[in-house]
Amino acid sequence: MNDHSPAGGRRLWADIDLDALRANVRTLRERAVGGAQLMAVVKADGYGHGLLPSAAAAREAGAAWLGTATPQEALALRAAGDTGPLLCWLWTPGDPWRQAVEAGIDVSVSGRWALAEAADAARSAGRVARVQLKADTGLGRNGCQPADWPDLVAAARAAEVAGTVRVTGVWSHFACADEPGHPSIALQQAAFADALGAAARAGLDPEVRHLANSPATLTLPDAHYDLIRPGVAVYGLSPSAEVGTPQDFGLRPVMTLRARLASVKRVPGGHGVGYGHSYTTSGATTLALVPAGYADGVPRHASNTGPVLVAGKWRTVAGRVAMDQFVVDLGGDAAAAGDEAVLFGPGDAGEPTAEDWARAAGTIGYEIVTRVGHRVPRVYRGERAS
Ligand SMILES: *Cc1c(COP(=O)(O)O)cnc(C)c1O
Repeated sequence: MNDHSPAGGRRLWADIDLDALRANVRTLRERAVGGAQLMAVVKADGYGHGLLPSAAAAREAGAAWLGTATPQEALALRAAGDTGPLLCWLWTPGDPWRQAVEAGIDVSVSGRWALAEAADAARSAGRVARVQLKADTGLGRNGCQPADWPDLVAAARAAEVAGTVRVTGVWSHFACADEPGHPSIALQQAAFADALGAAARAGLDPEVRHLANSPATLTLPDAHYDLIRPGVAVYGLSPSAEVGTPQDFGLRPVMTLRARLASVKRVPGGHGVGYGHSYTTSGATTLALVPAGYADGVPRHASNTGPVLVAGKWRTVAGRVAMDQFVVDLGGDAAAAGDEAVLFGPGDAGEPTAEDWARAAGTIGYEIVTRVGHRVPRVYRGERAS
């Protein structure tokens, strides 16, 4: 899937270390208790790492399941030849329900309208729809409220009896698992147990029950059930500083974002830098131009705060991040156009991490990697011939 030549002429690119991704999947599988299998979440273009290469590497490392948000992502996996268990959870009316049922994709259902869509799709596809019922155990986002759950499980059981639907899973999602000890965690676990009990009393016998995102995979073994469902940890990032660092869990960041300096020049003291002149040189210095901007996913909120490794040292973005470029002040150090700048990576070669950028921009590491833009080629390392 490496559709970008690794040869010269590269302005800005993301190295994707698929060996690290495979090692992360194996490490997470080792943490799974009671024989729970692993669903690698590959939504949003594999958190910016590339859908198909990330999915293939996760399967190679033993991910029994893949998970996506949108049906388009799930169908793209099938179009690329992935035939394994696959759950897709973010559905709206008018989505390609029938194609998903034909492709053997498990569809998540949080209410009666969606159950009806799945049953209709099954009838027109001439195939039983694989449905996973999602309970809202407290997140307040998608999922069926406890008050509506008995009706949903009864209707799903009736659809099973009618032969249109098979309920393959019951599942839910945490709100605050990245804040260990948060009181909502135990409440959600209890609510999930209640939802499972009601499903069983309705006569449902799902293949998989699952609740654990990355933070719950790392910190809540009693939430693992039949399947752990990590996303960000697969890509080697920690869900939060409270949970720990990637190293604490033997995880390795998969993406390294690199650029080549587009210009290096001497400027006098007192020189304004960038739009709005939010930075002024304090004395004669060298300014290096990094050809990466907010169109490439570099957060504008990291103006005057984002870290970047240039000429062997951490530098800080000088002035505003623009659409396509930002400047760093080398403080008189030498560098040349074409030299490499590393915005973030695993951190063990002295470079900042996605977490460092997240702190600088007031966001989370998830957003830093996921927003790396379309015009940034992904260069895959450790790809296997298929
Ligand atoms: C994104 C997502 C996950 C993965 O979450 P991480 O915190 O990245 O592990 C799991 N389940 C659902 C429903 C999600 O939307």
